[in-house]
Amino acid sequence: MGIKSIQDLDLKSKKVLIRVDFNVPLDENSNITDDVRIKAALATIQYAVNKRAKVILMSHLGRPKGKIDKKKSLIPVARRLSELLGTSVNMAPDCIGDKVKAMVDELKPGEVLMLENLRFHIEEEKNNPEFARALASLGEVFVNDAFATAHRAHASNVGICDYIKEKAAGFLLIKEVEYINRALKDPKRPFAAILGGAKVSDKLELLENFLEKVDKIIIGGGMAFTFVKALGQETGKSLVEDDLLDSAHAIMEKAKLKGVKFYLPVDCSCAAGPKEGLQTSFRTIQEIPEDLMGLDIGPASIALFSEALGDCNTIVWNGPMGVFEIDAFAAGTFAVAKDVAASRGLTIVGGGDTDSALQKAGLTDKVDFISTAGGAFLEMLGGRVLPGVVVLEQ
Ligand code: AMP
Repeated sequence: MGIKSIQDLDLKSKKVLIRVDFNVPLDENSNITDDVRIKAALATIQYAVNKRAKVILMSHLGRPKGKIDKKKSLIPVARRLSELLGTSVNMAPDCIGDKVKAMVDELKPGEVLMLENLRFHIEEEKNNPEFARALASLGEVFVNDAFATAHRAHASNVGICDYIKEKAAGFLLIKEVEYINRALKDPKRPFAAILGGAKVSDKLELLENFLEKVDKIIIGGGMAFTFVKALGQETGKSLVEDDLLDSAHAIMEKAKLKGVKFYLPVDCSCAAGPKEGLQTSFRTIQEIPEDLMGLDIGPASIALFSEALGDCNTIVWNGPMGVFEIDAFAAGTFAVAKDVAASRGLTIVGGGDTDSALQKAGLTDKVDFISTAGGAFLEMLGGRVLPGVVVLEQ
């Protein structure tokens, strides 16, 4: 990668600033409802603690847009982290300023300080140089372990590198980049990409890139209906992005030219809308009634996709096959989750929905790698260079 690992640096007694991604979901009482992202950063934090570094953690949480919002404080995160580490984690009142600096100066080797939400300052997302300099002044060494924000050039992951000499990647960031590169650079074939979710627009670039890399593209979820309509079929009330019909058509034509097999659902589970308790029925993709919406792939599509995945040696999956949040439309997503889990090939899954579908199905330990990132995962698979990664290159 041309990037130093945290293991390449001497951390002893040094002030080590670690950018983590603690952007966890909170309920209305500020309880953390999913701590996967905190757990994912533990290896790096624990390593720095064991090396007797003075550990300073920085993260954002939510989108406070430059304003202090108590509901987006990292205090509950520091508390949870302290439980997971089995050591106390001090909480700073801000992420820059004299008070914070004083707390940093008091840190002893092996102690951990959590800075308050970076995005309470508008300068963070603007990659403001003064703000980046103020953050950098808190540490002697910078470690980035926040892969999930690596597609954004912000002060705490990109700007900061102008003001701090020693920089490296944490274990999570390295693992994410390595797994995605394994799929993109020299995949064992056949290589299949499974894409689902609501929108084609979010995944156009990714599809273009996949056409150059994969042997099979399997499309489910709401986004499938834009392709179905682009083939001239009626789709009832199903989700369609009409402005993308031409693009969808062009992608399918290109797939044909390149010999990439392109799989769309052949049937779907329909209802009047994405609501619980409505009457549902299976329809072939050619016969979706005008007043109904396709909300999950049907049994014939499940069998087709399963067959297509059967011989694959590399599988990348992002996005649910239907409105899986509602039990009546979750079967397709769970069936694909089972197929991915059963594969003997390399399996890489990314995006919050896909991850939670695997969790619900109890299959998380059956795939090789689950990315903690959504946007960064998709952008890197889409062939983009991530600013937060490239800046770490020596
Ligand atoms: P995305 O953020 O684009 O990955 O989309 C995820 C969302 O797509 C989930 O909340 C699903 O409920 C939704 N979704 C999946 N399939 C469909 C469908 N057939 N119609 C409408 N929404 C869908």
